[in-house]
Amino acid sequence: MPNMPVQSDLRAPILVPEERWRDIYTYLDRTGPFANEGFEPGETVKEFLHSLKILVIGAGGLGCELLKDLALMGFTDIHVIDMDTIDVSNLNRQFLFRASDVGKPKAEVAAAFVMKRVPGVKITPYFGKIQDKDEDYYSQFTIIICGLDSVVARRWINATVANMYDEDDPETFKPIIDGGTEGFKGQSRIILPRMTACYECSLDMQTKPTTYPMCTIANTPRLPEHCIEWASVLEWPKVFPETKLDGDDSEHIRWVLDKATARATEFNISGVSYSLTQGVVKNIIPAIASTNAIVAASCATEAFKIATNSATAMNNYMMYVGDQGVYTYTFELQRKDDCPVCGGATVKVDCNKMETLEGFIERLVDRKDFQLKKPSLRTSTTSLYMAAPRALEQATRPNLTKQMGELVENGEEITVTDEALPISICVVVRFV
Ligand SMILES: [Zn+2]
Repeated sequence: MPNMPVQSDLRAPILVPEERWRDIYTYLDRTGPFANEGFEPGETVKEFLHSLKILVIGAGGLGCELLKDLALMGFTDIHVIDMDTIDVSNLNRQFLFRASDVGKPKAEVAAAFVMKRVPGVKITPYFGKIQDKDEDYYSQFTIIICGLDSVVARRWINATVANMYDEDDPETFKPIIDGGTEGFKGQSRIILPRMTACYECSLDMQTKPTTYPMCTIANTPRLPEHCIEWASVLEWPKVFPETKLDGDDSEHIRWVLDKATARATEFNISGVSYSLTQGVVKNIIPAIASTNAIVAASCATEAFKIATNSATAMNNYMMYVGDQGVYTYTFELQRKDDCPVCGGATVKVDCNKMETLEGFIERLVDRKDFQLKKPSLRTSTTSLYMAAPRALEQATRPNLTKQMGELVENGEEITVTDEALPISICVVVRFV
């Protein structure tokens, strides 16, 4: 009698690709009323989905969800980049990590986990900063998805990808899908270089960080956050007037923590911890696992639609509000003609001839649409002020007290560069 398969054999996991992607193939084998223009069902689109390279930036709350979603949706050549290591506070929502992974690089652990869980998917991790990589690296990808919590990193990747695009070479066109969450709120958006609004176009939509009333911080603290703000905003500058508090420097955070703990004890407040201290200093808003899941799902769905054309991609910004039920709204965010990244135009800035260079720089820093930190300014002939390196800073510092009328002509172009930006902004001075 021939060997009959036993029950356990019948239940063994079926890993042949046809089965793994069966439901996905349902969408790719035939066209439908929602298919995008130019959609061609069949083997080619399946092969393309399995072979294109997709980059996930960030392997945190959104990144874990994105890697899982993309792997289960048929993307089989995924790359992930993240500079962080796993902290015990990540474990409540970053579900690809276990307690035994604490201290290891997020990108590597996340990649290994998903590859083990979804055979046939290759995930290539990179443990480091996005700025470590150049255009050669980014040019290999068809789609880039960002799951970041930093404005600086988003601006950098947005400007880098926009700069890479050469209209004569379609290969250089890289859609960015950007997801972001803040507590119960989140958004996903699609950035098509020079076609839709880029990240820089909408920079003034950024909400101001949470602040507490200064009198509460100074006199009547009730929350652990008030004690941390007191230590970081009031005490730090008194003790270290020359040094800017750095939220990523553990010695700085430790100092603030000690001060805040002493104050909390004095006012009988509990709950000051290292992670809360860093959270308040860096203005980190608590992440909700379900918000991450929803926003990441939206990003992965859009990636699938862009990759396959099997449905029309979102146009172009979806906001999600989860604090009173589930509310979403999709609208078309407009491009800004004078966007310093995708507009290619100059920005006119009015100024008084008598205004000092220092005052002029301060006004540029205050502008919400630029979001500069320590800008350097030069004209086509001279350096007006260079924030770095130190020798140049010293050489150009005397210009700060000079009047604009002495330094530039009416209508002259000033190139503004900043550590926060991989591109420069061209400002035209207009004397009034
Ligand atoms: Zn733009």
